[in-house]
Amino acid sequence: MMTPRPDRTDPSSLADLSMAVHAGIRLDSTLALRTPLVMANSYQLPDDPSDISWSATAPGLYTRNTGVNQAGLEAKLAALDGAEDAVALASGVAALHAVFFTHVSAGDHVLVSDVTYEATWRLWTELLPRRYGLEATFVDIGDLDAVRAAMRPNTRLVCIEAIANPTTKVADVSAIAEIAHAAGAILMVDSTFTPPPFYRPIAHGADLVVHSLTKYINGHGDAMGGSVAGRRELIEPIKADAMVDVGGVISPFNAWQIQRGSVTLPLRLRQHFASAERIAAFLAEDPRVEYIFYPGLPTHPEHDLAVRQFGGRGFGGMMAFAVKGSPDVQNAFVARLRLITSGFSLGHDDSLIVHTGTEGGRVVTYPEPFRRHGHLRLSVGIEDTGDLIEDLGAALDATFG
Ligand SMILES: *Cc1c(COP(=O)(O)O)cnc(C)c1O
Repeated sequence: MMTPRPDRTDPSSLADLSMAVHAGIRLDSTLALRTPLVMANSYQLPDDPSDISWSATAPGLYTRNTGVNQAGLEAKLAALDGAEDAVALASGVAALHAVFFTHVSAGDHVLVSDVTYEATWRLWTELLPRRYGLEATFVDIGDLDAVRAAMRPNTRLVCIEAIANPTTKVADVSAIAEIAHAAGAILMVDSTFTPPPFYRPIAHGADLVVHSLTKYINGHGDAMGGSVAGRRELIEPIKADAMVDVGGVISPFNAWQIQRGSVTLPLRLRQHFASAERIAAFLAEDPRVEYIFYPGLPTHPEHDLAVRQFGGRGFGGMMAFAVKGSPDVQNAFVARLRLITSGFSLGHDDSLIVHTGTEGGRVVTYPEPFRRHGHLRLSVGIEDTGDLIEDLGAALDATFG
């Protein structure tokens, strides 16, 4: 009987398209060329299991300690992010919480971007300070002097997004990494809007990279997951503490789906980004559009930084805009779209739009026009660019008569 062939190549040596196809595939005794979906929660133990640690983080024991499909996905994510190790968890928010829970302790201080994902904001304004007395300062990460001034001797962690949800504010990752490291802190970058191979924060000085796998990396809107990648000494305690002991583990089925979805990630990103650039240009030229934020537009406040930081590989697939008029007009416009759907998620194959009102949840700092008109967050899908532009144009015509 044939035995599984050992992995022939180190996935980190492969070019992006090959890496997305080959990294993390695990052959087992079935010799199936795709990692089988292993739904077991428990595995056969050796004759004397008494010296096995119940907190070990490896497949083959119990699925909360790592499942087979999870392990394959983690190997792939580490390769894609250019990291030593990665952990996959139940959702993007579970991944964010896992970083905070594991790497911030009583007495520590945290610096958070003042434009940040809703859950990060709520964790650091309400839940973690109220429940555990942890302290966070929100700072305009576009002002490097302010970032430097906000660092304290007990600042343990700096939290930013490479391109922020939902405003598309771009962070200067390498400059902020330098400030964090000079003060003895670690830098966590939520890179959900900037997945690999488009951008790899670790190559720019980040210590930890978080993704909502729910978004671009799965890409098909049918699974939830989150990941953290970084040096092994930072990832291993997340696995032991936040995964095994708190239990935010990813289900085998979600890990299997995300592994499959991620095969086409680099190909999908090309189409997302190419369409987004054309759609942003189309909206920017239309007099019925009040404002538009897309890092690829020369009018974007951090356009030059985006050009430098993303090295010409594109500007992402996300944009923020409003049509002229009140929040009610924004809703009327969305209601007239036929191809683009109103929905919360992003990074899917289908285009999604969401009106987040004038406060944008409770994100601390919103650019002024967002407050006045409301704000539409558009996630450009991989449909035909012409069809998407036609949909937006027809909805503008129908809204403004
Ligand atoms: C969606 C999202 C998250 C949370 O991910 P879930 O998978 O929904 O838990 C975190 N950060 C950013 C930037 C996101 O867009």
